[in-house]
Amino acid sequence: MNPNLALIGKPGSRYRLSTPALVLDLPALQRNIARMAALATSHGIGLRPHAKSHKSIEIARLQAQAGVRGISCATLGEAEVMVEAGLPGVLITSPVVGADKLRRLIESGRKAGPGQLMVVADHPGNVQELAAQAKLLGYRLPVLVDYHAGLHRTGVTDTAAAVALAQQIADSDSLLLQGLQAYGGHLQHIYDPQQREQAAANLCKDVKAVVAAIEAAGMPLNIVTGVGTGTHAFDAAAGVFTEMQPGSYLFMDSDYLRAMSDASHPAPFETALFVQSTVVSVNADEWVAVDAGLKSLATDSGTPEVAYGVQGTTHYEFFGDEHGKLIVATPHRPALGDHIEFVTSHCDPTVNLHNFYHLVDGDTLVDIWPIQARGRI
Ligand code: PLP
Ligand code: MN
Repeated sequence: MNPNLALIGKPGSRYRLSTPALVLDLPALQRNIARMAALATSHGIGLRPHAKSHKSIEIARLQAQAGVRGISCATLGEAEVMVEAGLPGVLITSPVVGADKLRRLIESGRKAGPGQLMVVADHPGNVQELAAQAKLLGYRLPVLVDYHAGLHRTGVTDTAAAVALAQQIADSDSLLLQGLQAYGGHLQHIYDPQQREQAAANLCKDVKAVVAAIEAAGMPLNIVTGVGTGTHAFDAAAGVFTEMQPGSYLFMDSDYLRAMSDASHPAPFETALFVQSTVVSVNADEWVAVDAGLKSLATDSGTPEVAYGVQGTTHYEFFGDEHGKLIVATPHRPALGDHIEFVTSHCDPTVNLHNFYHLVDGDTLVDIWPIQARGRI
């Protein structure tokens, strides 16, 4: 039971939430969804936005309403949630490995229906097991070759291996060769826009050559996917990818805001995600303690920044599991019980720490949505 339910619809309820609370600005979210959809349409490229960022059926449905080819998922657990909810065109963007998971994958595919659940693969042994399990359970599984894209996290490591894996998939009567994935995650957060553009162009050239090699071997590809928020504008225009799978554009954390804006260019998307906390101790001279710490905010991309509740210069430091130290160099010290909202430095792992989105419109809490795939890691 969410303690904030009784506040829904009450004017001014936004800054009275029981905290820590994940807050989502609904109009900003809707504008971000519409902007990405319009950009994709203007370039004639498809979207399969990534649910790893939001982990929410309601948000996936908003994206679907804006016109997408499907939904990307990072894990089998996320995909199961999206399939159960009836979302079409689910693509799992990491290899699924292990007998139990392969069985779950195929069972989920059967629920999704023909062609509606796809997975990437990067190894002949994995493809062999996918084929065996698909045959056993009677689901023709669409598979995309995963290419390393310079990130070298997953993916085949060269063109010859990509062609060979594509051939193995195409030759299997229980699999369907669907396309290629190349996700350059290491390019997304390059701060210098020229360097980011150049890196994206280099990757596109590389991907184009891999696609050409597979197609020259007699295997046409329906889908060439990849692309995150950071390079979306360059990749949309490059004509190599058939679709994009961005996630963070929905929320725009502080790291992405810095990477995608400068004095002359505002970021193309707005920050829509916040973590609200309460000041729970004011006895120290130089700081106050707030009730949002390691368990409410991602830590890997720096510290959160104050978006609401204190004016002037502030500096947040993690202060344990449940607390943050907010150093305030301002005459306006927050008082005990004040509510302060932060912009998180990394949206995806922050969302995974919370059970609910608190949807707000201006100062009003308008709805509360569960984060159904939270913990499906
Ligand atoms: N595709 C894959 C495979 C990813 O791992 C990610 C994020 O990590 C994305 C897409 C979405 O990228 P972003 O959140 O930068 O838009
Ligand atoms: Mn991320």
